[in-house]
Amino acid sequence: MTARILDGNAIRDQIYAELQPQIAELAAAGIRPGLAAVLVGHNPASQVYVKSKIAACEKLGLRSWLFTPAESVPTAELLQLIGDLNRREDVDGILVQLPLPRQVDSRRVLEAVDPEKDVDGFHPVNLGRLVRGEPGLVACTPLGVMEILRRSGIATEGVPAVVLGRSDIVGKPLALLLMHANATVTICHSKTRDLSQIARRADLIIAAMGRPAMVTPDWIRTGATVIDVGINRISDLAEAARIFGKFPQRLEQFKQKGSTLVGDVHPEAVEIAGALTPVPGGVGPLTIAMLMSNTIKAARLRRAQTAGATAAGPASRH
Ligand code: NAP
Repeated sequence: MTARILDGNAIRDQIYAELQPQIAELAAAGIRPGLAAVLVGHNPASQVYVKSKIAACEKLGLRSWLFTPAESVPTAELLQLIGDLNRREDVDGILVQLPLPRQVDSRRVLEAVDPEKDVDGFHPVNLGRLVRGEPGLVACTPLGVMEILRRSGIATEGVPAVVLGRSDIVGKPLALLLMHANATVTICHSKTRDLSQIARRADLIIAAMGRPAMVTPDWIRTGATVIDVGINRISDLAEAARIFGKFPQRLEQFKQKGSTLVGDVHPEAVEIAGALTPVPGGVGPLTIAMLMSNTIKAARLRRAQTAGATAAGPASRH
C-alpha cells in the first residue's frame, strides 16, 4: 500500500482563494483587516516564522505591523504594548511570537491580549469557548489539521483517533476539535504506556510530540490516516541514515546540506498508512493559512455591525 499524500500547500492555496472574496467584501465596507506581530529579541526560528506570517498578510492584501522589542524587554513594557494594540481600532489580530525571553511572564502577556484579537487562540477565554464548543478563535495549527481532514474527505465521526502530544498549542486543542467532530479521542503523552499499541488501534493518528520519526510503520494500522504535525531539524548522519534508509534521494540531500527537517512520523509510514501528510509541505502551510483566516474572522466578528458583514466564512467555521 502507498499512502495518499495530503498536500498542505494545495489546501493552503484553496483556503487563500476562498478568503479573497471575504477580503474584497470587507474592503468594499472600508475595512482592511490588520495583524500586529510582536517579535521579541533575535531568535532565528521566530524571525523566520514571523517573516512568513507578514509575507502572507502582504500576499492577501491584509495590513500588518511588526513590533520588535529588545531581548531585555521587561514584562511591564510588553503589557503596555499589548494594551496599546488592544485599543487600536485598525488592529484586528495580535500575534505574540513564542517563545518569549525568560524574564518575561509569558502567561501574563498572552492573557493581556484582547480575546477578540487573539488570533493564535491562546487566551483562556478562547480555550474555554473551545472546551464548550462555542464559536471563538482557535489555535491555528489544530485548526489547520481539521481543514486538511475535512477538505481531504477524511471522516472523523465515530472514528478512533489518537493524538500523540498534549501541549496547549497543538495536542490539547486538537483533541477537543476532534472530539467536537465526533471522533473517539485518546490523548497520549510522555507518561503513556504502550504508546505503539494504542496508536495501532486508531484509524486516525495525529503526531505532535516533537520527536523525529518516532512513529514507525509498526505503530500504524494498515490504511490509517496519519497527520504529522512534528517539525524537527536533524543534523546527525546516523539518525538521518535510520530515517532515510529507503529514501536515498533525501539522504543525499541531507549529506549535501548537513541537516534537514523531519516530522514525528517515520517516512516509511507511507508504505502502510492510507493517507499521510508530508514534512515539509503538510501541516506547516496550514498554520499560516489559518492565522490569515483567524485575522479575517476577527475583523468580521469585531466590526460585523458597522460592516454589515456576516461572521462565518468557509475557512473560519469554528
Ligand atoms: P511540546 O510543547 O514540546 O509538547 C510535546 C508533547 O509531546 C507533550 O505533551 C509531551 O508529553 C509529548 N511527548 C514528548 N515526547 C514524547 C514521547 N516520547 N512519547 C509520548 N509523548 C511525548 O511541543 P508542541 O509545541 O506541541 O509541538 C510538537 C511538534 O509539533 C514539534 O515538533 C513542533 O515543532 C511541531 N509544531 C508544528 C507546527 C506546524 O505549524 N506544523 C506548529 C506547532 C508545533 P508531556 O506533556 O508528558 O511532556
